[in-house]
Amino acid sequence: MDIQELDREYVAGTYARFPVTIVGGKGSLVTDIDGKDYIDMTSGIAVNSFGACDDVWYKAICEQAAKIQHMSNLFYTEPCAKLAHMLCERTGMKKVFFSNSGAEANECAVKVARKYAADTKGEDYYTVITLKNSFHGRTITMLSATGQDHYHELFRPLTPGFVHAEADNFEYLKVLADAHKTAAIMIECVQGEGGVVALSEDYVKAVAQFAKENDIVLIVDEVQTGNGRSGQLYSYMNYGITPDIVSTAKGLAGGLPLGATLLGEKVKDTLKPGDHGSTFGGNPVACAGGVSILGRIDDELLAGVREKSKYLFEEFTGAPGIEAVSGMGLMMGLKTTKPAKDVVNACIAEGVLCLTAKDRVRLLPALNIPDDLLKRAAEVIKKCCA
Ligand SMILES: *Cc1c(COP(=O)(O)O)cnc(C)c1O
Repeated sequence: MDIQELDREYVAGTYARFPVTIVGGKGSLVTDIDGKDYIDMTSGIAVNSFGACDDVWYKAICEQAAKIQHMSNLFYTEPCAKLAHMLCERTGMKKVFFSNSGAEANECAVKVARKYAADTKGEDYYTVITLKNSFHGRTITMLSATGQDHYHELFRPLTPGFVHAEADNFEYLKVLADAHKTAAIMIECVQGEGGVVALSEDYVKAVAQFAKENDIVLIVDEVQTGNGRSGQLYSYMNYGITPDIVSTAKGLAGGLPLGATLLGEKVKDTLKPGDHGSTFGGNPVACAGGVSILGRIDDELLAGVREKSKYLFEEFTGAPGIEAVSGMGLMMGLKTTKPAKDVVNACIAEGVLCLTAKDRVRLLPALNIPDDLLKRAAEVIKKCCA
């Protein structure tokens, strides 16, 4: 049986995969089983921050794998401590809990917020306000956090204690916060799966101020927007706010599973021994990948992300068949006249991998995609949209 047949036969049918089998890659080019090259405008959904098999990253993870691939969290290891230090230095956050995915990073954030609220206000202060159209992950609790009904339907009962506010409507959020004993507010500054929609600056600032005044824990889900994707290290930095908790994953370790929940001053000591844990969280190989990636997301790289973003916005704005361009940094959504899925299939046939989000074409290239490849990809995408 060929790979696609084997997969369809034996892998749970949860993904509507494109009919492409990828066997390798280098940087922003990936190759399929027939030897066809594609410019990768997806980076594994914002995971391969420096593209496929980046040399520096590859060396870092191999060196760590050759030393020791895993220890339990009952012992100290260097990459975990080093990465936590780097994350705190770069953000001003105080402590980090490591896990393996975005959903887990968010689960930890909610646990911390609920414990903080129980400790300071009482156990009935457990409600978490999230936004409509948000996406926070696939565990039962994160489905509950996710403000999109179609993710909920088949899996009730969901975890109680989540209510959903309309994005960019501050008055509505205040009404919800008054109606419920609220532990936390959780937002994505740019809603990724929701169609690559950036929240307005006024709204995000008002929410942050409100959370602060009412001692409500502000959680920013940076799973997709984080680690340089927005043109700043974390997307909240574009808004001039300071969250209490930042969750991240996807691009953090450049292609290995790693989640991180960054805890600010207010909640840095909320978790005590035994309150939370993970077998694989803080895995040395994944963290060595994180150290390599984070160390290279410097001012120069971030300026490059903003420049490439500006180039793409200019290319796509007003182009035939493109009705709107949304997003931030190298996280971009195109509202196209043709159905997004048709545009993506046409791009794939022409050798450019793209994604969809809701009714939009979604672009998430590697942060260091070379300008010539970016230009070629933009030309193909424009042609397929027209
Ligand atoms: C992808 C994503 C998640 C879930 O991450 P997993 O690693 O798939 O669990 C959570 N929040 C946001 C904003 C995401 O984009």
